[in-house]
Formats: sequence, structure tokens, C-alpha cells
Amino acid sequence: MRIVRFSALQDAGFGTDPHFGVINDSDQILVLKGDPLFAGIVPSESKIALADVRLLAPVLPRSKVVCVGKNYADHAAEMNSAVPDEPIIFLKPNTSVIGPNEVINWPRMSERVDHEVELAIVISRICKDVPQERVHDVIFGYTIANDVTARDLQTKDGQWSRAKGFDTFCPLGPWIETEFLPGNQKIEARVNGEVKQSSTLDQMIFNVPRIINFVSQVMTLLPGDVIITGTPSGIGPMPEGAEVSLTIEGIGTLTNKVSARAK
Ligand code: MG
Repeated sequence: MRIVRFSALQDAGFGTDPHFGVINDSDQILVLKGDPLFAGIVPSESKIALADVRLLAPVLPRSKVVCVGKNYADHAAEMNSAVPDEPIIFLKPNTSVIGPNEVINWPRMSERVDHEVELAIVISRICKDVPQERVHDVIFGYTIANDVTARDLQTKDGQWSRAKGFDTFCPLGPWIETEFLPGNQKIEARVNGEVKQSSTLDQMIFNVPRIINFVSQVMTLLPGDVIITGTPSGIGPMPEGAEVSLTIEGIGTLTNKVSARAK
């Protein structure tokens, strides 16, 4: 099931405020009552065409986006880093989240803004110390993330809060796929149509059960928290005005544009 969050472009009889819905095969959205993370999947009487809405980030994390660094061996190598022996985690603020087709703002503090395509896990319930064999009880679904990074500031600062924390630096979407199971699906990033990153999800060093088990031993996870699972090799800059499309086979494609650098 593909869960979207959207605003109607015109008042379709149920208001233009953000709503949640389920996309069916004919590009129609069945509008849901309330937020499915808290209310469950409760259909309303309303439908609207996908063409008549603006998709928003499919989840607005209430508290945090947890990120895993260096989780593909080829990416660790291109960063001149050893393969870690346990997950390296950091946080992006929830204020960095934007949705599909929104603009990534190039901050004036940085001279280089990079893409990082990542599989994103959406957490469904309050949980702590989740055993690996029970992680599927706490996963609502999966979406795609761009862990946008001011690469020059990452190097300069020695830690990553600024480099990865700017507003608009966490595009999420286009929807949450609730039936996705990570395996050997392709994960790709294109910049202006050119393939820059291309790998498969089975190349992760730490898989999804290991990541949720590890993170939940550190911090309590809440419904709507997002965990992004690291990026394969091929990271690189997004030029001013670039169109960046991130695809994970079995989920979809998340596209955003990059602004001109702020003066
Ligand atoms: Mg990353």
C-alpha cells in the first residue's frame, strides 16, 4: 500500500489542508480519516486524482530523523574510512524535512552540496530495545530519503550537525510503501538525468533489523520517527538548478530541484 500525505490543489470538498491517502492503481487517492500512523488505515468517502494534489513529505517526524553513516563498504572507501564495526549514527533535525518536488536550498555557508540516496524506515510505534526478530512489529513502511550534505562543512566541522542539518536537507517521499521488504532492490541517484549512484540494498553493511535493534538500544523511537540507512558510493555535488531523482526499486522515485546558491 502506498500512503501519501498531500494538499489538494483546489478545495475538493474536504478542504485543502494536508490529508493522508492511499494511492490505488488508477492514480486515484482514496482519502483517509486522520493520520494512519495514529488512527490506522481508515478510509473516508472521498477520492481525488493524483494530478489534483501536491504531494508532501509522507511523514513529518515528531521528534527525529536518525541517520546511519558509512553503511555501504564502497562509500566508506570513497570517504577514505574503514568499514565500521558497529553502526555510526547521527541525527538530522525534523525541520530539515521537505517533500517531493520541493526545492533544496543551497545555503550561503557552503560551496558544495551533495546528494546521498538512502532507504528510509518509518517507525510505527513507541519502542525501545527492539530484538532483531521483532523489528517488523515497529516498521510502518519505507520511503526514500536524500541525506543532503554540505560536504565542505562536514570536513571543516569534524562532526555533522551543521553539514547535514540545514532546512530542506532531508527530502522524503514520494510515499510510504507499507509492503516493501528490503532485499536486493536497486538504489539509484540521478542528477540531471545522469546516473551518479547505483547499487543494491543488499550491499548495506548493517541491515534493517540490526539498525533498528542498535538505534533502539540508544534512544526510544516514536511513531513517525525516520531512520535513514546510509548511502552507496557515487556521492557528489548537485549543481545550482539541478534536478535530482532518487529511485529505489519497489518504492518509487523522489525528485527535487536545487536552488541557486544563496548570496
Ligand atoms: Mg548519509
